[in-house]
Amino acid sequence: MYKNPFDQFRSNWLVRNGLEMSAGNSKKRQGEPHQEVGEDDGHRKRKSGAATSVTVELDVLDCPVCLDPLRPPIFQCSVGHIICSTCRQKLINPKKCHYCSSKSDFNRCYGIEKIVESIQVPCSNAKYGCAEKTIYYEKEYHEKECPLAPCFCPEMGCSFAGSTQLLLEHFIADHNWRFTKVTYGWSFHVDVQEGVHVLSNEDGHLFLLNVVLEPFGCVVSAFCVQPQDTEPKFRCSLTFSFWKNDLFNSQSSEFELPSTTLSDGIPSDRFLFIVPKSYLEEDNKISVTVKKSLKSLISSVSTDGSAGTGIPS
Ligand SMILES: [Zn+2]
Ligand SMILES: [Zn+2]
Ligand SMILES: [Zn+2]
Ligand SMILES: [Zn+2]
Repeated sequence: MYKNPFDQFRSNWLVRNGLEMSAGNSKKRQGEPHQEVGEDDGHRKRKSGAATSVTVELDVLDCPVCLDPLRPPIFQCSVGHIICSTCRQKLINPKKCHYCSSKSDFNRCYGIEKIVESIQVPCSNAKYGCAEKTIYYEKEYHEKECPLAPCFCPEMGCSFAGSTQLLLEHFIADHNWRFTKVTYGWSFHVDVQEGVHVLSNEDGHLFLLNVVLEPFGCVVSAFCVQPQDTEPKFRCSLTFSFWKNDLFNSQSSEFELPSTTLSDGIPSDRFLFIVPKSYLEEDNKISVTVKKSLKSLISSVSTDGSAGTGIPS
């Protein structure tokens, strides 16, 4: 009795490349009616496991009201206008279609849900080596966590971008930056020389130690290079010590290692360790220790209770 909402989709589909719509092998959701109109057993068997490359204009997979990707449950008015469940809850008059104003109960639109769940899209970081494909409405979630999201070379004039592993290889091979393999909790010494010192642990984490000479002395900063700007997971301690006139002098600091993708170069507004010029000598070294932060992540309780503004009916 309802107008078939597939029509809205069919008119937008063009056969090109890029997206995959798997046919006939989607999982059943609980509560979904069993009847599949127009599919007999033989037909289903023939299509089982089949997939084809099609191109979909992605905006048909977005809620026409909030423009976020449609995800089940999806609802339609009696005419067939689609709305996502979040927007439906915000309708000032839940019995009136926001689009055609027809008086209507909104019903689940299982057909569209099935289509939406069948569309797989490649991660935007495919060019950096991510082979992950996700359901369209989960793409954003994956990309927020994608381990192969790019970080960037901070060298002026260099446009290299890639995963931290590729970036590490690039720093060493193309810029010849000094490199030390670190073990968490173990100290090592680096020369107080201007330039970038690359550190990495065998777990794949990449760190940079940047030394800049200023008129007043030597400024050291340190970073964890990673695709997501997460809570600091590492700490760094730096110690500078020397003997002068038979007296031992030392200064040390310990701080959280800020994370950066280096998209804007090496940050200049983070923790700085300063060695005054008058104490610098040619063979000065700084002791460096990288360790995992013990700070437990406090899980933030997400409150999804945004005081919704009603969608006019
Ligand atoms: Zn919506
Ligand atoms: Zn309508
Ligand atoms: Zn990815
Ligand atoms: Zn570079």
